[in-house]
Amino acid sequence: MLMEIVDIKRYLRQLEYLVNIDSVSSEPDGAGKIAAFMRERYEDLGWKITEKKFFDSIGPCLHIVNHPAERYDVLILAHMDTVFPLGTAKKCPFSKRDGRAMGPGVIDCKAGLLSGLYVLSALQSEQLLNNANICVFLNSDHEGISSRYSKAYSVSLAKKSRCVLVLEAGRANGDLVNQRKGIARYHIAIKGKSAHAGIDYTSGRSAIEEIARWILALQEATDLTRETTVNVGTVSGGTSISAVPGEAHAAVDVRYYEHEEVARIEAVMRKLQEMPRVEGTTAKVEGGITRPPMIPSAETKKLCRTIDQIGREIGVSFGWMASGGGSDGSFSAAAGIPTIDALGPVGGGAHSEAEYLELASIEPRCQLLHEVIRHIVQH
Ligand SMILES: [Zn+2]
Repeated sequence: MLMEIVDIKRYLRQLEYLVNIDSVSSEPDGAGKIAAFMRERYEDLGWKITEKKFFDSIGPCLHIVNHPAERYDVLILAHMDTVFPLGTAKKCPFSKRDGRAMGPGVIDCKAGLLSGLYVLSALQSEQLLNNANICVFLNSDHEGISSRYSKAYSVSLAKKSRCVLVLEAGRANGDLVNQRKGIARYHIAIKGKSAHAGIDYTSGRSAIEEIARWILALQEATDLTRETTVNVGTVSGGTSISAVPGEAHAAVDVRYYEHEEVARIEAVMRKLQEMPRVEGTTAKVEGGITRPPMIPSAETKKLCRTIDQIGREIGVSFGWMASGGGSDGSFSAAAGIPTIDALGPVGGGAHSEAEYLELASIEPRCQLLHEVIRHIVQH
């Protein structure tokens, strides 16, 4: 008989509190409130917390340990920020309907924050962590800004750890994640020459005409057989309908598994840059890889098999999925540390107003996480 890990009423009360605080990455006060909540709960457990302020414009990050240690048996990663702008929590506050909870960040990853806390609290009260060193690192700069400020620190923690467990949500079908695409991002700025479209058309150099060629060439660089996608996500340019546009901009998101694919796409951009179609325009490209791909190592695969076995023993079923989305697990996996992702409760619709959490998954996913950590610290 498994012990009860979650007081579900209390869990949902706390989840409501966390979801109803706007905590967009660029708004340090909100993430600060989430951090204060998490800090207090871990202090109640007697854990040691170091608050890290990596940059003024983001909230605090928390480095939490059960005992001070040189090395950790398990590093747990989750983020306290969301993608939702200020005012979203007021507009679509926490709600429950048809077995689901909704609200900004409910599954990405506020429920994950709570599940980690409840599971560690249960393991501690069962005396299972007395000889284990656990580290929890919660950041506030994950969403949209690729953990820009906290990444080096979380990788340094991963390198001191036997394995990394990430509390992003279980996928909508319940799958865990052991593979993720890498992400590269670029900003393209074309400079042409503006001129009156009626009086002085021929002396103009259209930056929009030039960027149109970039857009088509980049979109066409998508290669689904290698699972490489190129998405020109935003485009802007020009100042007036009656002026030849002197400037244009585009932002490009590339998802990939193989590093050679990034080189291929950068070569496409270099060629476009060297040979403009609209003579007299110049292009500036900024950017590069923001997250490496997460590729399961032999050690990660071994851990996956152990987790499969645990799932069968406790009757929690799931498969394994590769995800096109990035996570902090990508950095630890690239550093060679066995990394398992999506160990939070199950849900979907992340980054949209349709984001939801399957309420019935909270308990079984906490049981799964509990047994996984128990197994790791006992072996
Ligand atoms: Zn997330």
